[in-house]
Amino acid sequence: MTTAEQASHHEQTATEAAADQAVTEPPVRLVPGATLLDSGPDETHLLLPNHNVTFLTTGVTRIVHAFADLLSVPTSRSRAIRLAAERTRSSLELCDYVWGLLDKSGCLARGSVEPVTPLHAFWASQGLDPGEAQQRLAAMPVVLVTPAPFATAVSTALGASGLESVVIDTDDQTDQHLEAAISDGAGLLACFGVAYGSSLARSVNAIGLAHELPMLYGQVSGLVARIGPFVLPRATACLECTVLRMLAHAGAAEARVIDAMRRSSTGAPPAAPVHPTFLAASASLFVLEVANIGLSLPAQSLGAVIELVQGQAQSRRRPVNRVPTCPACHPGKPRRFGWDATFRSWVLSGDEE
Ligand SMILES: [Zn+2]
Repeated sequence: MTTAEQASHHEQTATEAAADQAVTEPPVRLVPGATLLDSGPDETHLLLPNHNVTFLTTGVTRIVHAFADLLSVPTSRSRAIRLAAERTRSSLELCDYVWGLLDKSGCLARGSVEPVTPLHAFWASQGLDPGEAQQRLAAMPVVLVTPAPFATAVSTALGASGLESVVIDTDDQTDQHLEAAISDGAGLLACFGVAYGSSLARSVNAIGLAHELPMLYGQVSGLVARIGPFVLPRATACLECTVLRMLAHAGAAEARVIDAMRRSSTGAPPAAPVHPTFLAASASLFVLEVANIGLSLPAQSLGAVIELVQGQAQSRRRPVNRVPTCPACHPGKPRRFGWDATFRSWVLSGDEE
């Protein structure tokens, strides 16, 4: 082999390596649910789950059609561009340009897993890699504390959302079972349907804080459901802060009710009757928030409580700030000065001698 041949051989190997590299590119597909519609040969629309994109000029629309066909199954970027160029007899540069248009306008979904289930298809349509989303959720085992009448609604929603969970009933051994489940591994402590002011909710909050475990609380009783607070120990308002804030606006009688509830022998009052459909809806919205937390998507209940009322079309978000004197998340802190502390100045008060 001459030197020139050797150089050519090296070049060829480098080209092959680049081709191999292209094969290992992340596969891309058209967003699941995308529909192609034509208004004419020079105007094509892609209907996507939450928006539409329009492509103009014949050269571009033909390439869009080719990509839509090729990307109905996961395909690497370089392969799709090469095949689209061959099929439409267009230049690679133009196909690359159209690829950029599709990508920037949210028409492409990346993912190593073919979105076979509705949940996978949903994630892919929202720009999440289904395989990665599944892994993230599996890395956050949920320990759920909920009374028996609510257990089915919540655990069904957890399963449908790709979340693994251990369910703990609300009885006189909840604390021990909760401690055991946390020691087996927990990524989130979820508590649904336990009255926020009850002694059981207080002890769940204390256990979560002691283990520095993120917690999400939810409640449904009669016509009102609450989602939140989502508690990041030491960083955001805990459940006890929330109860103290609620009591601050509720009046003395309500404070005495909470006090009596906590002194009663039962850990929490029994779950109040709820319309089965409202229970399913509240449990589902609660679990959607759990899934958002697992996928690191914005959690509306971080430092807040979302309130839903049956028969009302809108939800309300009530922010909850930490309480500086909260006995649960500020244990053993020295007492603070009240905000009304005054420091008299001799000059201003006229006491100067
Ligand atoms: Zn607190």
